[in-house]
Amino acid sequence: MYRTHTCGELRREHIGQEVKLSGWVQRVRDLGAMVFVDLRDRYGITQLAFNEQNAGLLDKARSLGREYVIQATGRVVERASKNPKLPTGEIEIQVDKLEVLNKSEIPPFTIEDNTDGGDELRMKYRYLDIRRNPVKNNLIFRARVTQLVRNYLAEQGFIDVETPYLIKSTPEGARDFVVPSRLHPGQFYALPQSPQTFKQLLMVGGLDKYMQIVKCFRDEDLRADRQPEFTQIDCEMSFVEQEDVLQTFEGLVRYLIKEIHGIDTGPFPRLSYDEALARYGTDKPDIRFGMELTELTDSARGRGFRVFDQAEYIGAIAVEGAAGYSRKQIDEITKWMQRPQVGAKGLIWAKYNADGSIKSSVDKFFDATTIKDWMEKAGAKPGDLLFIMAGERQATQGHLGILRMEMAERLGLRDPKRFSPLWVVDFPLLEWDEETGRYHAMHHPFTSPKPEDIPLLDTAPDKVRANAYDLVLNGNEIGGGSIRIHDQDLQRKMFRLLGFSDEEAQRQFGFLMNAFTYGAPPHGGIAFGLDRLVAILGGRESIRDFIAFPKNNAGRDTMIDAPDRISDEQLKELHLKLDLPED
Ligand code: ASP
Repeated sequence: MYRTHTCGELRREHIGQEVKLSGWVQRVRDLGAMVFVDLRDRYGITQLAFNEQNAGLLDKARSLGREYVIQATGRVVERASKNPKLPTGEIEIQVDKLEVLNKSEIPPFTIEDNTDGGDELRMKYRYLDIRRNPVKNNLIFRARVTQLVRNYLAEQGFIDVETPYLIKSTPEGARDFVVPSRLHPGQFYALPQSPQTFKQLLMVGGLDKYMQIVKCFRDEDLRADRQPEFTQIDCEMSFVEQEDVLQTFEGLVRYLIKEIHGIDTGPFPRLSYDEALARYGTDKPDIRFGMELTELTDSARGRGFRVFDQAEYIGAIAVEGAAGYSRKQIDEITKWMQRPQVGAKGLIWAKYNADGSIKSSVDKFFDATTIKDWMEKAGAKPGDLLFIMAGERQATQGHLGILRMEMAERLGLRDPKRFSPLWVVDFPLLEWDEETGRYHAMHHPFTSPKPEDIPLLDTAPDKVRANAYDLVLNGNEIGGGSIRIHDQDLQRKMFRLLGFSDEEAQRQFGFLMNAFTYGAPPHGGIAFGLDRLVAILGGRESIRDFIAFPKNNAGRDTMIDAPDRISDEQLKELHLKLDLPED
């Protein structure tokens, strides 16, 4: 037997007991006549004590290195100097037997809560990183969240079904990762971007309520804090309308926030897509704070200021308490907005000074009364700063939305301990893509239009709203789904609108459309990004902190060194010839 207790277990009431512990050496303190060893495992740290009475043992303890795996047998005794910070801090083990189970090299960074290891090093030695409390606790937290998700959904009658990973591609907007087939020369599987079509087929199969916590794969261009493989809580239900899905999953997210943080968020507000853009400049608004966009188009246009007169849209946000910003600060924010990643043209500002006076970058064109009128519209008080932007409607709203988030960040308004979920509904069904000169499904091609908008499919496709919804939490889209098309004719029509020929649609999605000929129930569902959900519930921004073995920003696993070349034999077996650019 390796142990009678864990390193986090022993307390005052165990004093006098003979125990055996196993774990890692966190620290050795050599006081000459005495040696103390902090022994660590997943559950905590217990102090081992060695004294002169057994010189051989004392020497052995002295020779232990950091991260050695050891086993110690001894008696639980009361500690002379207690450590109130440790749950085991009242006791120590007077060791009478010590065994080294395994030695360790000196770790490349310290296994402490605040380590000296940089990101890269910690990723390369992730197994050592996982020994550290912050990483370990995040993984435990993630497991707790998934357990709660399973409990809730099982309670609601959802059946956990596994769907295949080797499939053919489902278009969800990203590129597929593909897997060459050895047995079928020249043919490829694709890894699922999501189990979308399978979960719909499970509904045709009559399972009624499906759930799966499932890996999905998207070969997208790398963006910060994206992973090429990520986990979804994937769900589908039959005989439901949008309202049923929203109720069920609002229940789930409310339950999670309640269980984890003891907070009842109350019912989630709902915003239409158009309203979200108009008020927040984004379809995933952070509503923990106000600073909403105010449209000034009518009152600011036609006064002889060219930038405004030529604009389709003029809008503003009022930044609370920022009237004191210096010219330099405003310039810096302007530059930040003009970076290529944002691409704003310029920023117009107006200060509502504490004494009620107005100062603005457009003083030449607008008198104080006009600007005060804008201030009032935007809800600005003396002491606030108004940022105004003008241009094409969508883009300008988007820029104001980005500015709003940035100012909130700077002002500390994004409190990670607050949770403000909402639904965004009534998305457009289609999106025009300039590049390909085609419509794209905004959600995916299986999403149903709103029944009342179906006639518009023939006349004004861009006006058609989708029966789709997103769940947004603290400015992040954490889930999205839709009511699906379950009628083969409508599905065919949708594929045509998306530019598929009937043959192409048949070749790629024949299996689904055939299934729809055998009695497909009305159905709909949703998927949550588990990594992000866990990170936000954990009060953090980065999803990597909650993934045991994440890829780095270049999509590499630096620990196992993947992706990697494969041998010529493997290539041959797979009937592949490489055509690499010379470097
Ligand atoms: N398959 C969709 C996604 O991965 C979610 C859904 O429509 O249920 O975003």
